[in-house]
Amino acid sequence: NLSERLERSFKILKGEGKITEINVAETLKDVRRALLDADVNYKVAKTFTDTVKQKALGQNVLTAVKPSQLMVKIVHDELATLMGGETAELNLQGHPSVILMAGLNGAGKTTLSGKLALMLKSKKRKNPLLAACDIYRPAAIEQLKVLGEQIGIPVYSEPDNKDAVQIAQNAVKEAKAKGYDVVIVDTAGRLAVDEQMMQEIAAIKHGINPDETLFVVDAMTGQDAVNTAKEFNDRLDFDGVVLTKLDGDTRGGAALSIRTVVNKPIKFVGTGEKMEAIDQFHPSRMADRILGMGDIVSLVEKAQEQYDEEEARRLQKKIAKNQFDFNDFMSQIQQIKKMGNLKDLASMIPGVGKALKDVEIDDNAFKSIEAIIQSMTPRERTNPEILNTSRRQRIAKGSGTNIQEVNRLIKQFDQTRKMMKMVTGSKMGKMMANMPK
Ligand code: GDP
Ligand code: MG
Repeated sequence: NLSERLERSFKILKGEGKITEINVAETLKDVRRALLDADVNYKVAKTFTDTVKQKALGQNVLTAVKPSQLMVKIVHDELATLMGGETAELNLQGHPSVILMAGLNGAGKTTLSGKLALMLKSKKRKNPLLAACDIYRPAAIEQLKVLGEQIGIPVYSEPDNKDAVQIAQNAVKEAKAKGYDVVIVDTAGRLAVDEQMMQEIAAIKHGINPDETLFVVDAMTGQDAVNTAKEFNDRLDFDGVVLTKLDGDTRGGAALSIRTVVNKPIKFVGTGEKMEAIDQFHPSRMADRILGMGDIVSLVEKAQEQYDEEEARRLQKKIAKNQFDFNDFMSQIQQIKKMGNLKDLASMIPGVGKALKDVEIDDNAFKSIEAIIQSMTPRERTNPEILNTSRRQRIAKGSGTNIQEVNRLIKQFDQTRKMMKMVTGSKMGKMMANMPK
């Protein structure tokens, strides 16, 4: 998936403090490929990566996160912004408010009519009426009636009338007369965009002047969904999009393409055949889905919130000069603790969460380490070399631990110091160390 790809292509970036043009170019190629794989339209993907490039260049990378992770966050946020940022609500101003369904056969219009009616009844205390205006397939009226019965919503139909516009208008009249406050108009689709269907749906729209025209589209149709959306929008100027069948393993890239191409909000997503399987559309969640990642974004956010950039810089300098001491070790532990429950943090990293399921890590893990460091004198903390056996014994006593634990910590500290020296690598490390503050 995309976050793994980013991980790979950002290997070269490790240890560097900034995202630079050269590094970004390679990664964006990967992002573009991943978007295409997720059914995002070619042009949309290109525009998208250009924008991300502008945003990414020159961003400072905190020590607490890897450039690849920061990059995922930038990509994620930009995806969410492109998909509308906020959740879009239904317009229910009219008396009654009228909602018109449009879309190809099998897109999920009839199912969605039922789902919306149930949702408006149970969550918004509305009193909806369903209108059966698919007059071409004999089974269509029956299908809506069965759904209506199942969810306890009446269905208006005229089995012998061959004029869909008239039926829709009569349904609105019926609603006014009988006090229904929402009319949901189910219509006929075709297997492909066709002139007769377009004329009919446009005539219905003109005839009832709906508050909401919803374009319903099967998310699994990928690229085709974009073209269909465009043709429907050119003709109908619809108000919102509903993506159905997102319960499958579609990547949801259609959401991004449709939103960008027709510039209309996605309002709902269908997530199953059951009447309850409908959700409001959340741009941020869809971005997660397109990227196919764990919750790396909130991990980065948390780290950005908590990690002190100045402190990181100071540390890096010390490490480069081989002056990393027990005070720094302690302040690193404080940083990690500030970032929240360790297990929570770890579980947000894709792949790591599962592995840690049965492992116990919590803040107590640091207790004896902290106690040992606190029992050192300031001179011992800054000059760990002087920690001889008698000093170690004193520290063990003072911290309520034992000599083995003290030895183990000092050994770990030495290893950490060596490792850090290696990681910061000669080149970058020296540069950081010589940087004016
Ligand atoms: P219409 O021709 O546009 O009215 O489409 P229908 O509402 O009849 O739906 C076509 C098929 O898709 C039916 O079998 C529905 O049960 C199914 N369907 C509709 N929405 C969803 C959804 O969100 N998820 C799944 N898995 N199936 C759906
Ligand atoms: Mg139908």
